[in-house]
Formats: sequence, structure tokens, C-alpha cells
Amino acid sequence: MTKEVPLLYDKQLSCHICDHNFTSKKLRSRYIRVKQVNNDFSKEYKDASRNPLLYEVYVCPECGYAFNDQFQETFHQAQREQFINKISSKWRKQDFSGERSHEEAVRVFKLAVVAGEQTMQPDIILAGICMKLSWLLRELNEEDEATRFVNFSIQKFEKAFSYGNYESMSELKVIYILGELHRLLNRNGEAIKYFSKVIQHKHRHMEPQIVEMARDQWYKAREKNKAVNR
Ligand SMILES: [Zn+2]
Repeated sequence: MTKEVPLLYDKQLSCHICDHNFTSKKLRSRYIRVKQVNNDFSKEYKDASRNPLLYEVYVCPECGYAFNDQFQETFHQAQREQFINKISSKWRKQDFSGERSHEEAVRVFKLAVVAGEQTMQPDIILAGICMKLSWLLRELNEEDEATRFVNFSIQKFEKAFSYGNYESMSELKVIYILGELHRLLNRNGEAIKYFSKVIQHKHRHMEPQIVEMARDQWYKAREKNKAVNR
């Protein structure tokens, strides 16, 4: 008889702030079953408790620094000190190393927003954190909170776009996401503007799938806009 492989495993981590070594759970990929990918790239899973986002953020139990794999590990001493003075000094030892509920995942994502702001992580990374947090909040039907973080996410993506700093994301995808996030908040005029930028982009031939999605969403946004202005 073969022994069943556990759903979760421990990942070894080292805190970027205080160098403390700790573990955090991760889902084994063989257990993740995607049911649907939405137009904002959020995913729905056959089993909601097997959502890898629940385990994306690591929290150092000693100092409260929360980060994901995209966070930059090196930063200026001043930022490290700022985090220690503002956050760690008030941190009461908490352990997020076990299995997580959606509510706990929301808490750790919010800690990552704070940690990312204090250590001045790139806008594109904070934009992603805020967007994923809004997905988790939406799954909990916390619509107002989800909208609040979609707004933060838009602000950060717009800053990244204005500086042209996308890390591992393509410019086309960033522009598309901006269109889709505006569309989700019913700002159809803004959404149309961004989708049009994707459709007319000089690199549009390199990512035909994104352009196709932009065309579909542009059409939806235009219909909504027409209905409002009628
Ligand atoms: Zn730490």
C-alpha cells in the first residue's frame, strides 16, 4: 500500500529583516485543481481550501515581517530600521506557520501590504499583493474591503506603469489588468482607455491572448458605458 502524500509541506524560510529561521506551509501542486480562470487572472478552485494564495505570504513570528517570493530581499538599512521601529516594536509574537483559513490569509496579506510599504518594495509587487488580497476578500463576500484593495492595487499599477517598472510582468499585461480592475469598479470610461492601449500597443503581436482578452473586455465596457450614457 502506498502512503498518501500530505496536502501541505513545510517550506524553510529566513526573515529578510531579523534573519530568524522559520517554516511556512505550502500546498503540494498535485492537489491544486483550477476550476476557472477569471478575466482578472484570479482563479477559482474545485476545493476552495486548496487555494495556493492561502499560503503565498510568509510571516516571521519574531518580528512580524510578512513577504512573498516576489519581495526583494535586500533593502537599505534605513528601511530595515523603519520597519523595526514602526512595526516590530509593536509586534506580539504570532504564529502563522500552520494550516490557514481564508480569514487568516487575509490577515497575512494585510501584514504584507504594511511590510511592503515600510520597506519600499516596488509598486508592481505591492500592486500584486493588493490585487490578490482583493480576490481573497471577494471570496469571503467582503465586497467593500475588496473594492478598497482594488483601488490600492490600481494606484500601484498606475505608478508602475508611469515609471515603466514591471519586474517579471509584461507591460501589455499591466495595461490589460489596469483596464480590467477599472472595469470591475464600473469605471468603464477608464477601462476602455486601457483596453484600447493594449489593442493598439506596439508589442501586441507578442501576446495575442492578452489582446484577445482586451478586445472582449473593451466590448463589455463599451456596452456598459453606452447603457449608462443613454
Ligand atoms: Zn523577522
